[in-house]
Amino acid sequence: MPAKGAHVDVIVGGGVVGLSVAWRMARSGRPVTVVDPAPGRGASYAAAGMLAPVSEVTFTEAPLLRLGVASLRRWPAFAAELAADAGLTPDAPPGQNAGPGFADVRALDLRADGTLDVAFGADDLEALGELAAYMEKLGLPVERLTGRECRRLEPMLAPSVRGGLLAPGDAWVDPRRVTAALLSALERRGVPVVRARASELLRDGDRVSGVRLAPPESEDGTGGEVRGDRVVLAAGAWSSGLAEVPVRPVKGQIMRLRSPQPLLSRCVRGAVHGSSVYLVPRGDGELVVGATQEEMGFDTKVTAGGLYELLRDARELVPGVTELEVADVVAGLRPGTPDNLPLIGPSGTPGLVYATGHHRGGVLLAPLTTAMLLGDLPGEESELAALCAPGRFS
Ligand SMILES: Cc1cc2nc3c(=O)[nH]c(=O)nc-3n(C[C@H](O)[C@H](O)[C@H](O)COP(=O)(O)OP(=O)(O)OC[C@H]3O[C@@H](n4cnc5c(N)ncnc54)[C@H](O)[C@@H]3O)c2cc1C
Repeated sequence: MPAKGAHVDVIVGGGVVGLSVAWRMARSGRPVTVVDPAPGRGASYAAAGMLAPVSEVTFTEAPLLRLGVASLRRWPAFAAELAADAGLTPDAPPGQNAGPGFADVRALDLRADGTLDVAFGADDLEALGELAAYMEKLGLPVERLTGRECRRLEPMLAPSVRGGLLAPGDAWVDPRRVTAALLSALERRGVPVVRARASELLRDGDRVSGVRLAPPESEDGTGGEVRGDRVVLAAGAWSSGLAEVPVRPVKGQIMRLRSPQPLLSRCVRGAVHGSSVYLVPRGDGELVVGATQEEMGFDTKVTAGGLYELLRDARELVPGVTELEVADVVAGLRPGTPDNLPLIGPSGTPGLVYATGHHRGGVLLAPLTTAMLLGDLPGEESELAALCAPGRFS
């Protein structure tokens, strides 16, 4: 554990955000220590891994779109460097087409075959049409398709799918592979990962100077401390337990199905009478079906109602899903903020930096987050940092 006063960044939280920050800092030669009782098991474990800024755009979230597009651009190099640093072989399974401009990073199941957003009912088609017009106005590369054209791309779609919208530049990745690779890369670089919960921030006067560790549950007394000259708070939905950040948990239930033959060749999202669902195919035959959005505090129970809704809607779009084996069901907590944008940068308290509040897009936004914290935003992108400035809520 670093000695008091060592020039170390202490990263609190080892989800996709904290581990990415730790890895990029370590790569740039900065000593770091990660503190997390269960790295990689937070929201990042539940996430579908869509890198889909275009198909996820909503009428009120144009700033988020800018962040997402900038981060997606970084993903190919980020993934290629991570795979190399983690010692993953280039042809490790699985991945099919990493797409134009994308490094073929099969080990992380990074794929860029686009997202197909489909509509089921007449009302859904109308809503999709309005969204398409908005996307076209923003100059986003999308293609309107008839129901027949959708089925030509994805033959397993239901005959009742009425039309769709293809976002050919969207991508996706397997977040579980990403966090595992980040942990390997950190280990290979000798970065300490302290498997304990930070119970509070330590202060020297006004300055945050490390974290106190909660003792293991079996022990009484103190669990020790980790000192550093900066603390990066990356504890996802739990960040507000350590500092005054406007971050709340937003529950998402999601399931993984196992498919002997791939049912889909790209991400399919859909609205079924106003209720939305997505299906993400993995290279190893898994099909991820997600996700609910629930304001339930820190509850992570998987409920019959949540799974029913997902399967009901997924079956309307792709009837074959009901034949598949259920491999895994899980509920994760997205770190939501009042404006759905993350908090990245100095907190206002000396020694404390935020990398939290990534809500629905932490996997997508991980590369951009690291670039912001390392001051690596060239040209026009430097404006993006202001969108994420923690001071906007004070
Ligand atoms: C169902 C679902 C689907 C999603 N799909 C997508 C998607 O397709 N694309 C996308 O980009 N995003 C998606 N997300 C959102 C994404 O998962 C999150 O934005 C992202 O995981 C946030 O990463 P994080 O590292 O901030 O948080 P987390 O992954 O939650 O990690 C936080 C870490 O902090 C640790 N921690 C907590 N408290 C402490 C403490 N006191 N001391 C030390 N460590 C602590 C936890 O153990 C955990 O490991 C989805 C989320 C859910 C729930």
